[in-house]
Amino acid sequence: MDAAARAAAEAARGFMPPDEGLALYEAATGVPVGGAPMLEIGSYCGKSAIYLGAAARERDTVLFALDHHRGSEENQPGWEWHEPDLVDPAVGRIDTLPTFRRTVHDAGLEPWVVALVGDSPTVARHWRTPLALLFIDGGHGEEPAHRDYECWTPWVEPGGLLVIHDVFPDPADGGRPPYEIYCRALESGRFVEERAVGSLRVLRCARPTG
Ligand code: SAH
Ligand code: MG
Repeated sequence: MDAAARAAAEAARGFMPPDEGLALYEAATGVPVGGAPMLEIGSYCGKSAIYLGAAARERDTVLFALDHHRGSEENQPGWEWHEPDLVDPAVGRIDTLPTFRRTVHDAGLEPWVVALVGDSPTVARHWRTPLALLFIDGGHGEEPAHRDYECWTPWVEPGGLLVIHDVFPDPADGGRPPYEIYCRALESGRFVEERAVGSLRVLRCARPTG
C-alpha cells in the first residue's frame, strides 16, 4: 500500500486497527475484478474506505461506501462508542458524512470512493450489481447484522470476497452477531475462509447463490 494512503488511513477516525486495515487492503487488491465494484456497509468517518479505496484505485474499479451516517446503536449518546463532536447540533443527531467526505478528499481518493448515503436494506432492495468484494461492518445488533448478510451476500460473485469485521469467536471479546453471520457464511457452503487477522475474516465465494 502506498505510504501516503497508509498514513491517511492510520490517521483517520474510526474503528480499524492498522494490521486489520492492511489485511483488508490486501484482500481487495487480490480480487479478480473484471470491472465489478466493491461495496462496504458501515463507513463511519472513512477509515476502512481508505484501505478499500486505495485498492480500488489500483484495480481500476470503485468502492461504494454505504452508510446512513447517523451512527449505529453503540455510537448513540450514552453508549460505549459515542463521540459527542460528531453530533450535528442543528439536527440533534450524529452526522459522520462531513468527516467521511473530508477524509476521502484528503486521501485523494474521491474518484474511487462513491458514497451511498442511506439505510442498508433500503439500498439493497434496489441493488442489481454483482460485487467483487463485500465488506460488512455496519450495525452490529442481531437484526441489522443478519439483514446485511441476507440482503447483500447474494451479490458477491464467484471468486469474489466477503469480508466481515468484528468477528469474535469468544463472547468475552465482543458481540455475537458478526460472528454468527461469519458462521452462516461458512455453513452455507458458498464461502470458504481464506484469512483471519484480528477480528477480520476474509472469505472467498466458491459458487453463485441459489
Ligand atoms: N468501517 C468503519 C466503522 C463502521 S461503524 C471504520 O473503518 O471506522 C458502523 C457504521 O455502520 C456506522 O457509521 C453506522 O452509521 C453504520 N450503519 C449502521 N446501521 C446502518 C444501516 N442500517 N444502514 C447504513 N449504515 C448503517
Ligand atoms: Mg468494525
